[in-house]
Amino acid sequence: MSKLMISVSGIRGIFGETLTPEIAMKFAAHFGNFSGKGKIIVGRDSRTTGPAMFHAIVSGLISVGCEVVDIGVVPTPTVLLAVEESDAKGGISITASHNPAEWNAMKLVGENGMFLFPERAKDFIASLDKSVKYESWKNIGKLTSDQTAIDRHIEKILKISYLDIEKIRERKFRVVVDAVNGAGGVIIPELLRKLGCEVIELNCEPTGIFAHTPEPLNKNLGQLEQAVKEHRADIGFATDPDVDRLSIVSEKGKCIGEELSLLLAEKYVLSRKKGDIVCNLSSSMASEDIAEKFGVKVIRTRVGEINVGKKMKEIKSPIGGEGNGGIICPEVHYTRDAPVGIALILGYLSEQSKSISELADKIPKYYFAKDKLKVEPEKLDSIMEKVPIIFRDFKLDKTDGIKVLGDKFWIHIRKSGTEPIIRVYVESETSERSQRLCEETIGKLMR
Ligand code: MG
Repeated sequence: MSKLMISVSGIRGIFGETLTPEIAMKFAAHFGNFSGKGKIIVGRDSRTTGPAMFHAIVSGLISVGCEVVDIGVVPTPTVLLAVEESDAKGGISITASHNPAEWNAMKLVGENGMFLFPERAKDFIASLDKSVKYESWKNIGKLTSDQTAIDRHIEKILKISYLDIEKIRERKFRVVVDAVNGAGGVIIPELLRKLGCEVIELNCEPTGIFAHTPEPLNKNLGQLEQAVKEHRADIGFATDPDVDRLSIVSEKGKCIGEELSLLLAEKYVLSRKKGDIVCNLSSSMASEDIAEKFGVKVIRTRVGEINVGKKMKEIKSPIGGEGNGGIICPEVHYTRDAPVGIALILGYLSEQSKSISELADKIPKYYFAKDKLKVEPEKLDSIMEKVPIIFRDFKLDKTDGIKVLGDKFWIHIRKSGTEPIIRVYVESETSERSQRLCEETIGKLMR
């Protein structure tokens, strides 16, 4: 049986096994105590265990005197935005993101509408050792509901200053959306219609019965590829159940890969608004090529969206995110947002007299390879200590694990935060070279 995972981003487990309503209730009560009395906004993705989790969480929160605002089945970025735009003390998104249906989780949102900053998250985890302070009948909180969060989210996207809405509308794009029956169905078709698109909905019923493995990776998007071809659509979009990751299928009915979502968004935004790009250490080096064309830099952060968002805010970056299809556009907010990504990609497409596959082809092509090394927990550090010796002739970035910077390749070696494994990621100009570098690195680490 898998463990309940408690980390800086919240708790995650298999519902009814490691993650029970009792645990969710207690955790929410702690979060209420930690955040202070006041408004807490709660939204959930479409998982069948969502209502049980929701009621447990509400019970915990109102019992410690919080005022819960239920915004219903919504994307995670909608919860984040709703917190940012209100006087709430925080929020909870009930979702296990791209994990399969048996999982559920709670993502914790701070007062500023971003996930708890790592330092604050550590303080919260430390506070779990204290006992919960429940309120009596006089001071107990209330539950109210607000069904306007989706509309406000869409409105904010349509107000992105450089987005030419009329130009997008004129093109009358035919778009297929695969929301895997997650929360995407409640926002994306509506957003697309506002952008004048003809929408073909695939798995857009938020039933929580995922139509395929929910992570929006190429291997899971065969149905969308088929539908784009059948409907002769201009483009296909796929999202994960909580709608913060975006994948694109070209008009040829072929996945162009999650990595391209961010790169295309970077090209479009930088043509409108100059500034340095921020992305994590494991995202494609094609960002550097794009940045060079626009005369800006790429700032790399530790893996984890909060690290990217925080840095973007600090340096006022116009665009950034993560290579797994996580696009962050500060005009809306500093968190990954697939509906925002869709608007940016359509903005780009509407300005070019090219198809999405032609635009994708213009982005320098690199290839990833990844593998992991299972080791005894006590050997993790001694193996990591070998890395600077093995790669002594290279420039090393030690922001997060060790990243070896070569000529047109990189190797990122880091310990997993949750299991006794070392992950190795490689990117280079050919698939064969990446594969070979990955195998060689694993071999040297094991020696
Ligand atoms: Mg997600």
